[in-house]
Amino acid sequence: MLDLLTPNIVDTDTFDLAVIGAGSAGFSAAITAAEDGARVALIGYGTIGGTCVNFGCVPSKAMIRAVETLHTAKAAARFDGVKATASVTDWAAMVAQKQALVDDLRAAKYVDVLPNYEGVTYIEGQARFAKDGSLQVGERIIRALKVIIATGSSPHVPDIPGLDGVDWLDSTSALEQAELPKSLMVMGGGYIGVEIAQIFARAGVDVTIVTRRGLLPEAEPEVSKALTKAFSDEGIKVLDGLAYDSFEKSGEGVTLHTTHNGAAVRIEAEKLLLATGRVPNTGSLALDVAGIDTNARGGIVIDPQMRSTREGVYATGDVTGTDQFVYMAAYGAELAAKNAMNGNTLNYDNSVMPAVVFSDPQVASVGLTEALAKAAGHEVVTSVLGLEHVPRALAARDTRGLIKLVADKNSKKLLGAHIIAPEGADSIQTAAMALKMGMTYDDLGAMIFPYLTTVEGLKLAAQTFEKDVAKLSCCAG
Ligand SMILES: Cc1cc2nc3c(=O)[nH]c(=O)nc-3n(C[C@H](O)[C@H](O)[C@H](O)COP(=O)(O)OP(=O)(O)OC[C@H]3O[C@@H](n4cnc5c(N)ncnc54)[C@H](O)[C@@H]3O)c2cc1C
Repeated sequence: MLDLLTPNIVDTDTFDLAVIGAGSAGFSAAITAAEDGARVALIGYGTIGGTCVNFGCVPSKAMIRAVETLHTAKAAARFDGVKATASVTDWAAMVAQKQALVDDLRAAKYVDVLPNYEGVTYIEGQARFAKDGSLQVGERIIRALKVIIATGSSPHVPDIPGLDGVDWLDSTSALEQAELPKSLMVMGGGYIGVEIAQIFARAGVDVTIVTRRGLLPEAEPEVSKALTKAFSDEGIKVLDGLAYDSFEKSGEGVTLHTTHNGAAVRIEAEKLLLATGRVPNTGSLALDVAGIDTNARGGIVIDPQMRSTREGVYATGDVTGTDQFVYMAAYGAELAAKNAMNGNTLNYDNSVMPAVVFSDPQVASVGLTEALAKAAGHEVVTSVLGLEHVPRALAARDTRGLIKLVADKNSKKLLGAHIIAPEGADSIQTAAMALKMGMTYDDLGAMIFPYLTTVEGLKLAAQTFEKDVAKLSCCAG
């Protein structure tokens, strides 16, 4: 319990729970506690709704779907006797339409939701801890029995000489550009860099991705390689193994001086997008004053029950520096609220956390990679199935991608699934359920899957552990 509190203090600024940050995690925590009858202060700073709806998931996916139509038209050439064309006629209109969707969803999923919860008081302002554990928001002091920190993350700005002398975009401003540049340099090969690079490339911009470790360096190597090939085939340049030396302004744009295999390489573009990761938003909170620890990457240290190093204070979402996906933020928030308010001891479990990159082909994974499974002490077997063996991909004349399954050799239990496929994202949840249920690859291979679906590839990949899929007849019975 927080130091200054006595149970009989009752004034308008005393609550059962204070939630700092009104993004996805903050809303989930506040609603969960309010549904259980708690009086909640939801303290929001910046645009209500936070990253996902305003600057992240929604605007990026809206733009991805818009430019997909341009690619689909080009891809029609795969089919004999078909010709289609599509082009950007008004980029600013596309951006405005995306923004209208963002505004609608912010209203529907956040602003308009609040009045349904009488127990939640929305307080606008930047919260900061005092030593006694109370919170200062502007002139107000907020006292609460428990606090949940859900302040999210912001784009990381790398420390590279000359960067402060050039203009750059981050993921937020990139998705707001009303005009298309001629060329774009994307620094960073993580999922945000990859998704935004493809948006601009498909809209006709000359895109170069510069990275130290290639595209999606945490993914299975086969997946990163397949994505790099797909991007190169679309004309997106991917440079890896670079050491970044310095930036300078040049002509109409930016020059990056790098070193590659000991040789100096200059890369120029009209615009620069920094996509080198996200850093937890802790700077405004005075965590040190309250004795709340952060780790080397700046995330708030929490235990599996979402408890920080200060009693009564919990944290969830991007501010913890891990699992930076909106559904994990909301899941952790629900646990934190239940543990904080009901005395539960629920543990956070990310062992079957699906992760999706909305590139094309899409990348989706769940569970362990081959390397992580080995590091965890398993004797590992894998199955890698190219999409040329999946009937749906053949019918679509689009065999970009593969499915890789990872299993324990002795028990045959599935440990991980990794998909890169044009419509691969939705298939990952089937693999997630298989992992959750502790299925073996024999179990998965014996299940009935609908013919010709992308998810059928999972069955074929499961059978590939012990059979040569090329020798199977239709429907892999
Ligand atoms: C370009 C992009 C695309 C993405 N796409 C996806 C996707 O497709 N799927 C997916 O699952 N995830 C995606 N994400 C990640 C997802 O958006 C985040 O994981 C999620 O929004 C984190 O939620 P949160 O509640 O932890 O933080 P946020 O939503 O960032 O909310 C935190 C809030 O706290 C506020 N705040 C900060 N400090 C204070 C303070 N002192 N006092 C009060 N308030 C404060 C912030 O202003 C913010 O409003 C994407 C992210 C980006 C950037």
